[in-house]
Amino acid sequence: MLETKATETVQHGSIFGQITKMDHEQLVVCHDEATGLKALVGIHNTTLGPALGGTRMWPYASEEEAITDVLRLSRGMTFKNALAGLNLGGGKAVIIGNPSLKNEAFLRRFGKFINGLAGRYVTAEDVNMNTSDMEYIAMETRHVTGLPEIKGGGGDPSPVTAYGTYMGMKAAAKKAFGSDSLEGKTIAVQGVGQVGKYLIDYLVKENANILISDIFEDKLQAISKKTGATIVDPNLIYDVDMDIYAPCALGATLNDDTISRLKCAVVAGAANNQLKDEDKHGKELQEKGIVYAPDFLINAGGVINVGAEYLGGYHRETVYAQTEKIYDTCLHILDKSEKEQISAQKAAMEVAKARIRSIGNVKLSF
Ligand code: NAD
Repeated sequence: MLETKATETVQHGSIFGQITKMDHEQLVVCHDEATGLKALVGIHNTTLGPALGGTRMWPYASEEEAITDVLRLSRGMTFKNALAGLNLGGGKAVIIGNPSLKNEAFLRRFGKFINGLAGRYVTAEDVNMNTSDMEYIAMETRHVTGLPEIKGGGGDPSPVTAYGTYMGMKAAAKKAFGSDSLEGKTIAVQGVGQVGKYLIDYLVKENANILISDIFEDKLQAISKKTGATIVDPNLIYDVDMDIYAPCALGATLNDDTISRLKCAVVAGAANNQLKDEDKHGKELQEKGIVYAPDFLINAGGVINVGAEYLGGYHRETVYAQTEKIYDTCLHILDKSEKEQISAQKAAMEVAKARIRSIGNVKLSF
């Protein structure tokens, strides 16, 4: 049915109700007493291919919270992968616990569980999981991607994510300002982590006026020294005069409190789930005349990178060329949003769902 919202929450004891509502194919529970492993794998939709999405390790306060997260994240991957043009479905795994629990046996046990899914789910890194963890998982299964370059993998996906975000930002600028040049534009980058720092490199080359915020002063000082970017207090980032707001830190920063404060013409950043409420806040941005480049479209460079590694024949140039297409897809979605008077988020979801439906029909014949 594909017609569900990411904001659904799990009610105690209603797992089947929830996976039916969000239209998941499978929810797998993994437990291993010897290593203390407790993990969940959500497989949302495999119409386009094996479900690809990273593993997140987090000390969830409750099982319900972990279930909600894995269902929401795996569903998100279905639409991200579809929009990126990948022949991959949507899935995600969460491991419940403190990341200090990780060791070789723990990760290899997790790899065995992944292997048991026989390729229906392919894992990669996400929050608190890195390329070295993938190496241990790869000792037990080939259904893992995001390995280090020295192991034949694509390495850190962040530079590719930053490139796709930059492409999406340029497309949104073209829509808002009539030109995709970012020269002289004031761009506020919230979060100067892995993606933010690479994004800033592109903005510097375009002679943009860059504002930066982060919760770590040392990171800010280093970037400011290198690029001349101006540091902004994290609490004031929504109030500054800017042309483009680029969320590259947390989710849900487009919400009841912030949207009314934003003075920008464009929102384009890498952070996942930027809209606190997909429908409400997507619509509010549209009504305010802010051009919004949907996050799950423009931050897909990372999954394009790991997807290419999994599907075989990894070539960095091909990955960048595919990521560059985010520019055209973004323009198409923004045009659709304007023409049909729907939010950019809704337009992007419709394009993703249409691809899944049409390719699903192709697959009906052998
Ligand atoms: P990261 O952890 O390297 O960077 C995030 C940065 O945000 C950190 O420097 C952190 O200190 C900062 N931050 C945290 N809270 C903040 C706040 N309140 N105000 C300002 N800054 C704050 O993460 P990343 O890999 O750069 O990813 C950034 C975002 O992009 C995340 O939402 C992530 O899920 C998303 N994303 C990343 C990738 C990827 O390839 N790394 C791919 C897709 C999506």
